[in-house]
Amino acid sequence: MSAVVAEQGSTTPSTPEAVAGLRPGAFGNATALSCRECGHQVALGPFYACPECFGPLEVAYDFPAVTREQIAAGPANIWRYKALLPVPTDIEQSPNTEPGFTRLLKADNLARELGLTNLWVKDDSTNPTNSFKDRVVACALSAARELHAKVFACPSTGNLANAVAAAGARAGIKTVVFIPADLEKPKQVNSAVYTDSLVAVNGNYDDVNRLASEIAGEEEGWAFVNVNVRPFYAEGSKTLGYEIAEQLGWRLPDQVVIPVASGSQLTKVDKAFQELITLGLVEDKPYRIFGAQATGCSPVSAAFKDGHQVVRPVRPNTIAKSLAIGNPADGVYVLDICRRTGGAVEDVTDDEVREGILLLARTEGIFTETAGGTTTGVLKKLVETGQLDPTLDTVIINTGMGLKTLDAVADSVGPAATIDPSYAAFTATGLA
Ligand SMILES: *Cc1c(COP(=O)(O)O)cnc(C)c1O
Ligand SMILES: [Zn+2]
Repeated sequence: MSAVVAEQGSTTPSTPEAVAGLRPGAFGNATALSCRECGHQVALGPFYACPECFGPLEVAYDFPAVTREQIAAGPANIWRYKALLPVPTDIEQSPNTEPGFTRLLKADNLARELGLTNLWVKDDSTNPTNSFKDRVVACALSAARELHAKVFACPSTGNLANAVAAAGARAGIKTVVFIPADLEKPKQVNSAVYTDSLVAVNGNYDDVNRLASEIAGEEEGWAFVNVNVRPFYAEGSKTLGYEIAEQLGWRLPDQVVIPVASGSQLTKVDKAFQELITLGLVEDKPYRIFGAQATGCSPVSAAFKDGHQVVRPVRPNTIAKSLAIGNPADGVYVLDICRRTGGAVEDVTDDEVREGILLLARTEGIFTETAGGTTTGVLKKLVETGQLDPTLDTVIINTGMGLKTLDAVADSVGPAATIDPSYAAFTATGLA
């Protein structure tokens, strides 16, 4: 699986060879991998960099006519959209974690608190391993299986490792997951329960990612979900966009706020909206996409505010570890999309991240992790600074679960009183 990875150091890349032994329809209606920069196309396979210009490859399709009824008749998970994903038509037969079709909650209390007319929370904390990563991993697993990979692997800021380890266990494929050694304990445990091949690396995520690229280039038959099968992985995030539109009654929201780590998710929600318009499944209308980062790792937000076309890498220092990618692969595309749609990229401090976690919990009963605290905090800031129109229909994506980042708020909340078990002691607290 190393064809393209091995080329990285060279200046005269060769075209990757088509993969032998693929079954017909292995990637559904996908037709090729297409370069996002120059449009050059290569065969579907474990490739992620353009052989002409080293630009990122993404999946191209020839979609058949797809109707709302066909989709609605599908299962209550991401496979209801399988015709729009690079997966075979019999994908439901292969063991996987069946993520997706999570709740879209009308958030009237939070809306009132912030002065918004209509607000929804797309709550991906209820996925099988409690983050949106189960979506992308399910698509990467399908690709790994069709490409006859021996090992299913990833470098991760935490949630991805959880999702890969669980999906690999269910699929009966060997997994090896790599994480920064200083990762939150709950996220380490949430991986290690599924696999005995968790590797903690002394370094930050960008170091772990570099190591993974090196291993992918050296070892045969390793599918690194976000490295050499990244184009397939990334497509899984489109299902967030499809679901939001379907759950709003087949219409696009006016505004969406999405957290940004590598930026993949944000770009794919936009791709999903564009596909739904092209397929005639929703009415064509303007929408604005907003990116959310933590100030301690905000290279895309900084570039947006400075009007730059490129993203300068940073060294992350934030409690929002799941968003702590200092050199985001899709950062420039996030800039393009947020500018094109009239949105913005904004960031909030770690204190505002904690406040965001408590705000969402106390208004809507949703306990989000630091990434969701970032998104909620950024929503508040966007309203306060007038960048987001409070009268328009707005969706925020909660991508993860608060139990994985308990330490972030553990010192901010706790018992209002500790008392002896007597009625008198209770009344003395003033809580009666
Ligand atoms: C990975 C992750 C993200 C961001 O994903 P990208 O597609 O890399 O931008 C957001 N939230 C959570 C909880 C994540 O784990
Ligand atoms: Zn190219």
